[in-house]
Amino acid sequence: MQLTVWTYEGPPHVGALRIAASMKGVHYVLHAPQGDTYADLLFTMIERRRTRPPVTYTTFQARDLGKDTAELFKDACREAVERFKPQAILVGASCTAELIQDDPGGLAKALGLDVPVVPLELPSYQRKENWGAAETFYRLVRGFAGGREKPARQEGAPASCNILGPTALGFRNRDDIVEVKKLLKSLGVEINVVAPLDASPLDLTRLPAADFNVVLYPEIAETAANWLKREFGQPIVRTVPIGVTATREFIREVAELAGVDPAEALATDADRLSWYARSVDSNYLTGKRVFIYGDATHALAAARIAEEELGFKVCGLGTYSFNFARDITAAARKYGVEPLISDDHLDVEEAIVEAHPELVLGTQMERNTAKRLRIPCAVISAPVHVQDFPARYAPQMGFEGANVIFDSWVHPLMMGLEEHLLGMFREDFEFHDDTGASHLAAVNAARGAGGQGAAIRAEQPAFEAAAAPEETTPDTTDSPDGAAARWTPEAEKELKKIPFFVRGKARRNTERFADETGVNVITIETLYDAKAHFAR
Ligand code: SF4
Repeated sequence: MQLTVWTYEGPPHVGALRIAASMKGVHYVLHAPQGDTYADLLFTMIERRRTRPPVTYTTFQARDLGKDTAELFKDACREAVERFKPQAILVGASCTAELIQDDPGGLAKALGLDVPVVPLELPSYQRKENWGAAETFYRLVRGFAGGREKPARQEGAPASCNILGPTALGFRNRDDIVEVKKLLKSLGVEINVVAPLDASPLDLTRLPAADFNVVLYPEIAETAANWLKREFGQPIVRTVPIGVTATREFIREVAELAGVDPAEALATDADRLSWYARSVDSNYLTGKRVFIYGDATHALAAARIAEEELGFKVCGLGTYSFNFARDITAAARKYGVEPLISDDHLDVEEAIVEAHPELVLGTQMERNTAKRLRIPCAVISAPVHVQDFPARYAPQMGFEGANVIFDSWVHPLMMGLEEHLLGMFREDFEFHDDTGASHLAAVNAARGAGGQGAAIRAEQPAFEAAAAPEETTPDTTDSPDGAAARWTPEAEKELKKIPFFVRGKARRNTERFADETGVNVITIETLYDAKAHFAR
């Protein structure tokens, strides 16, 4: 076990909590010390849910350890059932409580409560959040759908399916369901149950009635869907409709299972990504190097969209979903890169620096890394921060999801380009830092220091303060300690005009050239001499 300040996935009981928080009528009694109640904040602060998750913690303290902690757990169970009147309770232990071995499942059963009890044994030190969510969902599905008969479809009734996988804290899951329902409706397929999000245990008892299952997020729903397939013979739609090509494949796969003609659903004009990607504006983005990292579902989809739909070049591909390492490895080989299977954000950061990407697509953590490195970026996968639960509609799936993806990936690239151009033309009479942000800047300059531009800047001290250090602070990216002192401020300024992804190399080459030629202070001339030297 490794102590870390940042992690892609929490412990497995957080996954269980995500399932409980997704559903209606489920309550989770969690044997956990006081400090482990932090998980509530993920739902109320990050996802901005209106209610706290349906969980009762035993919140034992150090002084309780000498006493009967099992009694604490039993009291918490009784009180939770009495107070919340759930259709079912989940019982389990957090990482710390697992160590005191109180057996929450056995204790809850011994109470003889008059609600179904689903005991969870989630090995905290071997497994992680997504596995915990998948296992909890599977246990609930098995508990409530198990032992039932599959009703026969009525003569002439349309085909029906279940949508499995969306959860609380899932990346854009709320909006993806809307898009997927739209696709299924366009094929005339009925939706039997959506779970776990917004489903109750009673809804789970109806799962066997569907003709097939649509698995939106294999990390969460694959285990349950495989069991439903074995138990009730329900085939699984495995294509995840993220991106235009995958959405079309999804439509064809569903149509085949439902025995309907996909032609009408495929003849949509909702897809703007394909046309926009061919537009003049996008053409100069062809071949952009993109680094992709996230959960397996989103990373795989992103790589395919990047290469096959937008014409980018995948220069790095990885996941923290160890269970799906094989899929990521196969995709990485296809795109000619080494797969990165790691849940250490420092490994990912190192790989990003090494790959010199022009766009980073990742989790909240890769966004932080990319921002530090000043590389355009977009978030494509959980874990995410509060801004990735937007108030507006922003799906990832279906044709509208593809449109959203186009906007959220391409706009940062455009902005990055704009910033780079502003850097290049910093000395231009219209764009230099003493100029106001207006086309009238040249006129203002002619009016002298008392012109309109100066007046605007006088009202904007923050603008001055932000711009000034930029000019003088040496950029020490990739520079050994102390080496920056050898650069004159003018040479540093010139270095900053070089795109960030080759700037480190340019710095190192120049310093090597200076060392080899006995130059102590690097000036603009040294920079250009070095350039000429290495260009030979
Ligand atoms: S012991 Fe487990 S639940 Fe508690 S803070 Fe650590 S990871 Fe979270």
